[in-house]
Amino acid sequence: MPNRHNGPDPEPSGRARQRLLAIVSPPGSVCHLCDKPIVYGLRARHRLGPSMDHVIARSKGGTWDVWNLKPAHFGCNSARGNRDIPAKAGKRSRRW
Ligand SMILES: [Zn+2]
Repeated sequence: MPNRHNGPDPEPSGRARQRLLAIVSPPGSVCHLCDKPIVYGLRARHRLGPSMDHVIARSKGGTWDVWNLKPAHFGCNSARGNRDIPAKAGKRSRRW
């Protein structure tokens, strides 16, 4: 049997991904980036819909293991990208 784990952890797709998402981000989950509830039953890739965010970014060796994944909004997740969890952006001071 070929060793499929000698490279970067491959992104699961199809049913494997759905199964993982159901474990990591079941209905009723709260986004770990903005602390607001995730909305279920929206169209795919809706920004308020569920996604899996990597605690350790994949670019830093993070894997698709359950312990390295947290529920996040699709929009929050893509905004974060591969960066570390950002500090909350401070309000800009008014110019007048
Ligand atoms: Zn969020």
